[in-house]
Amino acid sequence: MAHEVSFFDDVNRNFDQAAVLTKHPPGLLKQIKMCNGVYHISFPLKRDDGSIETIHAWRAEHSHHKLPVKGGIRYSVAVNEDEVKALAALMTYKCALVDVPFGGAKGGVKIDRRFYSQNEIERITRRYTYELTKKSFIGAGIDVPAPDYGTGPQEMAWMADTFAALSTGELDSLACVTGKPVSQGGVRGRMEATGRGVYFGIREACSHVEDMKALGLNSGLNDKRVIVQGLGNVGYYAAKFLRKGGAIITGIAEYDGAIYNPGGLDVGSVKSHQKETGSIMEFPGAKSIKDTSSLLEYECDILVPAALENQITRENAPRIKAKIIAEAANGPITSEGHSILKEHGRMIIPDTFLNAGGVTVSYFEWLKNLSHVRFGRMGKRFEESTNLGMLRAMEKMSGKSFSEEEIQFLVQGAGEEDLVNSGLEETMINAFQEIRGIKDKHNNEIDLRTAAFISAIDKVAQSYMELGIFP
Ligand code: GLU
Repeated sequence: MAHEVSFFDDVNRNFDQAAVLTKHPPGLLKQIKMCNGVYHISFPLKRDDGSIETIHAWRAEHSHHKLPVKGGIRYSVAVNEDEVKALAALMTYKCALVDVPFGGAKGGVKIDRRFYSQNEIERITRRYTYELTKKSFIGAGIDVPAPDYGTGPQEMAWMADTFAALSTGELDSLACVTGKPVSQGGVRGRMEATGRGVYFGIREACSHVEDMKALGLNSGLNDKRVIVQGLGNVGYYAAKFLRKGGAIITGIAEYDGAIYNPGGLDVGSVKSHQKETGSIMEFPGAKSIKDTSSLLEYECDILVPAALENQITRENAPRIKAKIIAEAANGPITSEGHSILKEHGRMIIPDTFLNAGGVTVSYFEWLKNLSHVRFGRMGKRFEESTNLGMLRAMEKMSGKSFSEEEIQFLVQGAGEEDLVNSGLEETMINAFQEIRGIKDKHNNEIDLRTAAFISAIDKVAQSYMELGIFP
């Protein structure tokens, strides 16, 4: 699908709509919008067959108002300078909104990874990291990449290893990248974090009776029919948690086709089927749909685009039937698409809020790497013995005793994953309350996206003011 305007211009349109509702000086607003720096590298790859190919890669650092800057690295044929700038800008606003103390960045390598061997991907990743290191576009206090579309823990491990090899003796080198495997300094819960955050965000949005009533829906997740686009890391976990939370996953769309079953799909089994056969198509009991994007137009309560940008445009927006569109991906709805959905009375849960779970838990991983200690290591046992002492005292006082299961449940101290998930839940709930509060303050005349931008702009502007750059 062609863009109506460039992706970065589209992000800036959303910015402008919110900026006019703030009182910041025009010059400052212009500065906030700007992309501070972009680095475009091309380097040679020696392919397994001996031939040489030129690889193009970028890293955009959108805002240095806080350091390090932060954002994923994507491997996709659609990567270009405009895309990384737009995605880096979204990172700035996302981090500000959820109070993660980073500026925004994004990187990408223009490849279709299906056509490269694992060894070739490793060579590309290590060379890309080398180029970033050479120009100081990576480092724990400078710029901290993470996984994004087409990358995962393996690529992050290679990046950390390459960076460490080039910066001998740097104690904090592991904090140069997040989303690493747990054995390589990653944090428990990062893998699921974006999807889990999407679940917390949707659950929170659906919990407000009056908001749901306005859409003709009951509050809560129970029995809500959900269609998910994309069964990658974000879509898969979002669908899994939503299903566990009571929703029914009626449809899943992937790049090569979609499946639909109004009775509900077991997401885990769909994933296994995809791994076995190479596609989600022909999943037993479901209808297979060749025209994958047509699934977005099916009847449902919540549509979760969790793949790429530019999926709902002025062309297909009039045909979207979902009452709620929950942006798990970055920029899946164009600004023109958004206006049409709004006219049709749809609720849009914006990306800057909804997919912020990934970078939130990346922040926890970064903190773990800098403190060089696993969350919970110091306090877990102490908490457990204090809790046990308390239970025993209660038993003594009451003359009654707790069952083994009760003791196990009440005594347990928080481990790393418990703390990470609790911090994530707290972050998502607070951020939603914040944007809903801003919307309310504007007499509900603005949408959640504009409210999220107002919050982010205010925080970035405040940061600049406090730096004393602007009087
Ligand atoms: N790529 C993810 C995003 O778009 C995560 C970024 C990060 O953890 O730094 O939010």
